[in-house]
Amino acid sequence: MNAMDNDGFRRIVIVGGGTAGWMAAAALSQAFGRHKRIELIESDEIGTVGVGEATIPAIKNFHLLLGLDEAEFLNAVNGTFKLGIEFENWGRLGERYIHPFGPPGADSWAAQFHHYWLKARRLGETASLNDFSFESSLARAGRFGLNGERKPNYAYHFDAGLYARMLRAYSEALGVRRIEGKVVDVNLHSESGMIESVRLESGPVIEGDFFIDCSGFRGLLIEQTLQTGWEDWSHWLRADSAVAVQSESVAPPAPYTRATARGEGWQWKIPLQHRVGNGIVYSSAYLEPDRAAKLLLDNIDGRPITEPRQLRFRTGRRLLQWNRNCLALGLASGFLEPLESTSIHMIQNSLIRFIKLFPARQIEPTEIDQFNNDVRLEAEYIRDFIILHYHVNQRTDSRYWTDCREMSIPDTLAHKIRLFERSARVFRDQYELFAEQSWVAVMVGQGIEPAAWHPFVNNLPDTELKNFMAETRATIARQVGRLPMHQDYLNQLQPGNREPRVARAGA
Ligand SMILES: Cc1cc2nc3c(=O)[nH]c(=O)nc-3n(C[C@H](O)[C@H](O)[C@H](O)COP(=O)(O)OP(=O)(O)OC[C@H]3O[C@@H](n4cnc5c(N)ncnc54)[C@H](O)[C@@H]3O)c2cc1C
Repeated sequence: MNAMDNDGFRRIVIVGGGTAGWMAAAALSQAFGRHKRIELIESDEIGTVGVGEATIPAIKNFHLLLGLDEAEFLNAVNGTFKLGIEFENWGRLGERYIHPFGPPGADSWAAQFHHYWLKARRLGETASLNDFSFESSLARAGRFGLNGERKPNYAYHFDAGLYARMLRAYSEALGVRRIEGKVVDVNLHSESGMIESVRLESGPVIEGDFFIDCSGFRGLLIEQTLQTGWEDWSHWLRADSAVAVQSESVAPPAPYTRATARGEGWQWKIPLQHRVGNGIVYSSAYLEPDRAAKLLLDNIDGRPITEPRQLRFRTGRRLLQWNRNCLALGLASGFLEPLESTSIHMIQNSLIRFIKLFPARQIEPTEIDQFNNDVRLEAEYIRDFIILHYHVNQRTDSRYWTDCREMSIPDTLAHKIRLFERSARVFRDQYELFAEQSWVAVMVGQGIEPAAWHPFVNNLPDTELKNFMAETRATIARQVGRLPMHQDYLNQLQPGNREPRVARAGA
């Protein structure tokens, strides 16, 4: 068999040039180089969704795969570091906690740290679980650094438009051809039903062997053409709208995202180097767009630098993310609101899974099934984690929060909550994105009081437990205190202030 026999999918067409489209172009061109012809079609007239600026730590793996230099990347996208998300008013009005990107304290082999903390509280400990987390403490202190005694786990905030631009330059350098134009027609093979080509408004027909639908909410190929179907989750996640505005920075950027619950929704604040991204995610059944925009403008720190932009969405997922010779990515594949900044991660994960299963000679239905099953499970676990934030609240000040508390929830989530309430235990399935510590941070942060801690903790005498807690905090305080302020660390990464790369690598 010669090489050509094993290479039936040489022409890849990506429809859409938002974050999803350019992430796909970058990853596919990195994986296959000029060996495949990769074309990306995007329409300036339609534009991109223009939001999506907070990430989770796994994005560093994506950048590793692309071979990006961290400082160059941050400077190209006006990025900042993110150590977690601060949730305010979620459990009760006036309360706040951080969901950090690292575990608190230190676990023993049988019991995680929070079991020790639960017992210590019974003995009089007043510090919160967050106080035992390096990442939370660093976030609260406004500090960040990677050259200290301990390296935090972190992600980034970045300008979505600049991110797409950076990935475009990367992809074009690897041979990706960008085509500006609006797709108006999609042609299917009369027998197989596979997509054969797309036609642009200006006339040209672009043929391909495999198509990646990154066309955003409209799902031009996956839904409008292949009619894949949709599973609706809006009975659990009621938000169907957002209003976004950018504002001037009035303070150094905090190294974390803020998610503040309001009366009928929640507000995000994402600090970048040059500006702040703000928005309110809300349900139109509870809050009118004009009131949402006013609520947003009344609650931003700096002067707005854009007009408030309204967005509508539907929460749920396509029944198949991979259908025939079409893979949907990003908003075309489904939508979960940005409360835990998971959408960009799901693009990245789907891409990596897809590249691992990239067809050679023909598309194997069993491989498609495997892919669709894996991404479905991943999405359902993330969905449950987001519902948790809404459902576990004690707020009595608005009908919205009462309705969220009283709604029925998926059985999988009800099981997790029950387990934690009874014995403080959390288990992680292999498909789950969020680790045990994330569930614990949110469940404790929003006021669940487990009935018991692990009996293993009782092996430690009370005085030793108290010392262990005090030492953990003292160590964190020392580690935090030695790191620079976030803004100072960002300044160190500016081109003129960096040590030459070769010198750093010791070459
Ligand atoms: C309010 C909100 C906040 C969010 N915040 C976050 C966050 O903090 N973190 C996170 O990870 N994610 C977030 N997301 C999700 C994130 O924005 C998206 O996952 C990401 O931007 C990917 O979008 P996309 O590329 O799929 O779609 P888009 O950005 O909508 O891009 C669609 C592309 O398709 C092109 N196109 C469409 N139709 C045609 C056509 N007929 N012909 C040619 N081209 C066409 C458009 O021109 C565009 O280039 C948020 C989403 C929303 C709605």
